[in-house]
Amino acid sequence: NSIQIFDEAMKKQIDNLYTMKEDLEYALQNHEFILHIQPQFDHNKSIVGAEALLRWQHPQKGLLYPGDFFPVVEEFGMMTQLTEEVLYLAKQLIQKLPKKVRIAVNISGRDIYSEQFETFLSSYFDKELICWLDLEITEQVLIQDVNKAIDLITRIKKELAVAVSIDDFGTGYSSLQYLKRLPVDFLKIDRSFVQDLFKDKNDYVIVATIVNMAKSLGLKTIAEGVETKEQFEELQKIGVDFFQGYYLAKPMPEDSFIELLQTSGSVVH
Ligand code: C2E
Ligand code: MG
Ligand code: MG
Ligand code: MG
Repeated sequence: NSIQIFDEAMKKQIDNLYTMKEDLEYALQNHEFILHIQPQFDHNKSIVGAEALLRWQHPQKGLLYPGDFFPVVEEFGMMTQLTEEVLYLAKQLIQKLPKKVRIAVNISGRDIYSEQFETFLSSYFDKELICWLDLEITEQVLIQDVNKAIDLITRIKKELAVAVSIDDFGTGYSSLQYLKRLPVDFLKIDRSFVQDLFKDKNDYVIVATIVNMAKSLGLKTIAEGVETKEQFEELQKIGVDFFQGYYLAKPMPEDSFIELLQTSGSVVH
């Protein structure tokens, strides 16, 4: 009996997975994916850029977040298609911006180590648009194949003048040696360090070390997950350049972001 129950449960799970796959294919064809935009600010709370975060407007299930569907995307090898959609959406957004600021998109490991990726980029974005694009690549992904990552980033930056950020920085133990050779523009200090800034002396020291290191390498830092005024002020004192987090603004629909850009100050860095 118990074995039968287990089988039923498993069958249901597998059915769900395949339903999800069909839904995903349908969603890609019918443009059910949208971007939510989270602004990034400087010390004066002027907008200097924004991160595009993927959402799925599912007809039955409502708004889904990356955590809800990325496991299935990975499982069925659909990441490349999804990234193509994200680049398409980002391009449309950049074209619509009333004041130009840099828009960051998240790029997975599957993308940057694929042949198609550079072709996508250069066919979607001409010179005028691509200078507003920022590719966020996690430190974890970069260290999977550091030499390949260095080659690729060096090449695309030379050919396409795109900005590159290392996302979730501090969690991947990348060495200074690599960092020196990676031609990136921004280090995004992982949310976990910001969260424990006042709780864990080690995290405070790590943030300060990342900031000093970035300065000596000529890179800008962005703190992610800034949730309180105290964190915002302390991070400024430490010398972080830019800030992103619920305290300043939550991710919002594109229209709201465009409105915010129109009414608030923005600076280009
Ligand atoms: P991430 O790139 O590190 O993005 C930051 C995540 O932190 C976002 O979650 C954002 O909503 C959330 N966040 C921002 N400020 C705060 C804050 O103050 N406090 C807290 N607790 N959270 C904050 P989201 O949108 O659920 O995205 C999760 C992850 O999914 C992203 O992490 C990124 O790795 C991935 N992702 C999102 N969009 C895409 C995409 O288009 N392509 C790929 N490959 N991955 C994506
Ligand atoms: Mg990111
Ligand atoms: Mg991040
Ligand atoms: Mg993160």
